[in-house]
Amino acid sequence: MTHDFLSPLTGSFAMPAAENPTVAMIEAAFRHHGLNWRYINVEVAPDALGDAVRGARAMGWRGFNCSIPHKVAVIQHLDGLGESARLIGAVNTIVRRGDQLIGENTDGKGFVKALQAVTDPRGKSVVLFGAGGAARAVAVEMALAGAARITVVNRSAARGQEVARLLSENTPATAEYAPWEGMFRIPAGTDIVIHATSIGLFPDVDGLPDIDLETLHPGMVVADGIHNPPLTRLLKAATARGCVTADGLGMLVNQGVIGIKYWTGIDADAGVMRQALIDLKL
Ligand code: NDP
Repeated sequence: MTHDFLSPLTGSFAMPAAENPTVAMIEAAFRHHGLNWRYINVEVAPDALGDAVRGARAMGWRGFNCSIPHKVAVIQHLDGLGESARLIGAVNTIVRRGDQLIGENTDGKGFVKALQAVTDPRGKSVVLFGAGGAARAVAVEMALAGAARITVVNRSAARGQEVARLLSENTPATAEYAPWEGMFRIPAGTDIVIHATSIGLFPDVDGLPDIDLETLHPGMVVADGIHNPPLTRLLKAATARGCVTADGLGMLVNQGVIGIKYWTGIDADAGVMRQALIDLKL
């Protein structure tokens, strides 16, 4: 009988790393699909990132995720970037293609894949709250997925304007910045409302973005990037107003599905991965 005790390796470099549940979700998929692969969650300090990437190269890792604070800094250690990672200016997934390590960004791709379960972004009018790393990734992928119009609403005007300009200059979407001063009223004609700030993230579970909930209407889709807790106050309010919703757990799971596809070529079962996260009772 032949044996194969050599597992293909993937993992994550971040700091802090202990609270990151991705390993549970990815390894559940590996087990479910009978893959003898491993995902190793590693804490890497900023000044050790170069050595960590060289180590991954030396050990033939098939790929890895990068999270805070490495998403921008890792780029200098890579051999190339995918299209949206280049536009976003940040990488969260590294894929080995031949001898090269290529940076991709699955934050926004995972969001769009989860959203597509409830609506098609093509031709839609979108209001997006936030202009941080997650919002930027979501904005670029929504534009590349065919959203017609994206209004970026953000507390800091400079960051919001920069995301709107990025979209206008690099994608076919029409984009504009709208200031977030007081309660924001969703304009009539909006199809999709996306919340991508950190308001409502554990432990801020009572957080609710300052949106006039009376301006949410049935027929609108409301999506939240917060995955912990998955059912945010915003999504509860949106459901009560008759809106269709998409939660941040779907974004997180689909990001993992896309990463596994990049690394292994298989289409992982999203249901198994979502259940693995729910079982953690975060
Ligand atoms: P950043 O720190 O880069 O950006 C934070 C954003 O939230 C900025 O737009 C900031 O506005 C805004 N913000 C924070 N506090 C407030 C406030 N009190 N009022 C108004 N705006 C506020 O974070 P990320 O973009 O990386 O992450 C944002 C969220 O997305 C996090 O909660 C994270 O958990 C979630 N996320 C979820 C993922 C998933 O898979 N589900 C993946 C990645 C992220 P300003 O510019 O004015 O500071």
